Amino acid sequence: MKDSYWLRKHKEKYYPQLKEDAKVHTLIIGAGLTGLTTAYYLSQATDDFMVIEADRIGYGTSGRNSGKVTVQHGCIYQKLIKKHGFDEAKAYYEAQKEALESIASIIDELHISCSAIRKDAVLYTNEETLIAKLQDEYQAYLDIGISAEFLEAQSSEPSWKAALCIKDQLSYDPFAYLLGLSDYLDQRGIRIYEHSFACEVEKDGSGWRVSVNNHYIYAQNIVSATMTPLLDGFSFIYAKSYPSVSHIALTECEHSISQQTLYSIDDPMSSYQDINTHTLLCGGYEHPCAVIDKEGLDEWLCSLQKTWKCETPRIVWDAQDLVSFDQLPFIGSLSKRYPNFYIACGFSKWGNTNANVAAKLICAELLLQENRYQKLFQPSRMKPMLQAKCFRMNMQTAVNFIKSQFPNVSGYELSCQPKEGKVVTISGKLYGMYRDDCNELYLVDIRCPHLGCICSFNAVDHTWDCPCHGSRFSFDGSIIKGPAQSPLSEIESDRENHVDPHEIIHKTE
Ligand SMILES: Cc1cc2nc3c(=O)[nH]c(=O)nc-3n(C[C@H](O)[C@H](O)[C@H](O)COP(=O)(O)OP(=O)(O)OC[C@H]3O[C@@H](n4cnc5c(N)ncnc54)[C@H](O)[C@@H]3O)c2cc1C
Repeated sequence: MKDSYWLRKHKEKYYPQLKEDAKVHTLIIGAGLTGLTTAYYLSQATDDFMVIEADRIGYGTSGRNSGKVTVQHGCIYQKLIKKHGFDEAKAYYEAQKEALESIASIIDELHISCSAIRKDAVLYTNEETLIAKLQDEYQAYLDIGISAEFLEAQSSEPSWKAALCIKDQLSYDPFAYLLGLSDYLDQRGIRIYEHSFACEVEKDGSGWRVSVNNHYIYAQNIVSATMTPLLDGFSFIYAKSYPSVSHIALTECEHSISQQTLYSIDDPMSSYQDINTHTLLCGGYEHPCAVIDKEGLDEWLCSLQKTWKCETPRIVWDAQDLVSFDQLPFIGSLSKRYPNFYIACGFSKWGNTNANVAAKLICAELLLQENRYQKLFQPSRMKPMLQAKCFRMNMQTAVNFIKSQFPNVSGYELSCQPKEGKVVTISGKLYGMYRDDCNELYLVDIRCPHLGCICSFNAVDHTWDCPCHGSRFSFDGSIIKGPAQSPLSEIESDRENHVDPHEIIHKTE
């Protein structure tokens, strides 16, 4: 996966790898916004916990997002009122508003240098047919009590037919914010470990035993801040949400939109903001995991150039998030059966504020305190299952699973070109074949270790991606992203001599 502008911009900061057994009261797994913000709040009550991260801090979705910290989450409020009711929609808004102000206070108090700037968030359309949708959203704002302005058509750039503006939101560098949190945790003596992948999470008496780098961590409580929870525990999170990928492009541009973050509800939805004068960050081109269309992506990038009269993008990267079918995230204790296993996910690409909401809620539960949002975000709720889209997409996942068992196979032709990946059958089994630019051949078993879907090749990032639940693997099979907890097994090949994979398989069988 390509590094984001934020990840490239900052000096490397390393944390050690876990190399011994450990015992803690609470183990936080995942050092993105959810994990580190939870650690920040928890550290104010106890130091009997640690954070482990499979990769590096912020290298999940958090360090790759577009940095808008806002209560304006697309056209969400009209949907929340319809699906959950007025009080619930209002509570969601209040949780986000409190989160925005908490983030601003943390930045102030810890003196985090993360380019935080107050900006107006503008939701807009250039389609006549979508004006009514914006008007409905405005009505939802009025009903809930969100202070906003409905803007009439504007012809100068950025142009729109109608727009909805909420003042005084925030934009920041999410990775710098995470580095600020981790500095603070260092100073408090909180243990953070990188390159420490949690696998085999098992019950151990009333607590948990987690296997990490061939060691065990024993913990009373687990916070799975891993974006896709490490345990489902009959909460059916995988059926109540779906992984969705978006792309971000950084480009030099004539226009400057320094006072606003923009979010277009036109198809395809896109978002824009300046990070410097004349440097534009464009987000969009959303698609389900494992169905990347390279030409479609190129078209989207070209359309950005035309609209914004900008240069060919300097950096393009992608990231994924879990989208919840009922628009509300899943935060808190997993289920009655697993009360001391906490999750936070389904932020639907609005995790900058939702991670803060989650951190405060989970800390309250850990410290047996009240939190008024507990019921709203309860992970075990079944409402997402009642949504028509949930039924449709789960059917699609089932179809993907079945289809994936019969992929478009290229036989065992050895004409695999450098940087090409293809699915082959050898002795009746499916394998993923990839040749790197040094001409080395890689052959991996592409059955996803999570639930057995067959991964497909991502021609943009050169990864094997699972179409069912979003796990991603490097071309050599190593794991990039869960929910899978183990890599794809690589068939050792005689790469230098370009030996026929057919023979290799026979040798290994
Ligand atoms: C393209 C894109 C743009 C976005 N832009 C915005 C935006 O402008 N504003 C906004 O509010 N939201 C935005 N979001 C959403 C937001 O970035 C996410 O919701 C948020 O970052 C999720 O944070 P997290 O900590 O829960 O997950 P992550 O940041 O993914 O962190 C999870 C961490 O857990 C680690 N992990 C996973 N499995 C294991 C394991 N087994 N053992 C140890 N560690 C593990 C991972 O390596 C990772 O570092 C965007 C999302 C996308 C995809």
